[in-house]
Amino acid sequence: MNALATTTVRKNLLEREGYTPYCGEALMCTAGLPRTTWDGAQFRCRCGWRSEFPADFIAAYKARWGIPCDASTEPDFFTAMAVGIPPISAPAGPAPAPAETTSEQENE
Ligand SMILES: [Zn+2]
Repeated sequence: MNALATTTVRKNLLEREGYTPYCGEALMCTAGLPRTTWDGAQFRCRCGWRSEFPADFIAAYKARWGIPCDASTEPDFFTAMAVGIPPISAPAGPAPAPAETTSEQENE
């Protein structure tokens, strides 16, 4: 356990705009134990340390400060394409008629 486990840090993160926790490496930090920076999903130190806040806390943090939920996961669509997973886009089943009425494409 480290400082991230304390409720004080979490409280500050949700109550003080711009607050970031100190590096969690403590004595092992090679960057001088600075405050960490938000990287879009967790807090990261220049020494390479990265926080491990649970997803529910991160979600609360993002919601508190209006951070876009998918700021760091934007390329997921392309990742899905690369590995052959069809992205969730067009809904299955009868859809409203598109602007162009091309009845030739009804075949499966
Ligand atoms: Zn560090």
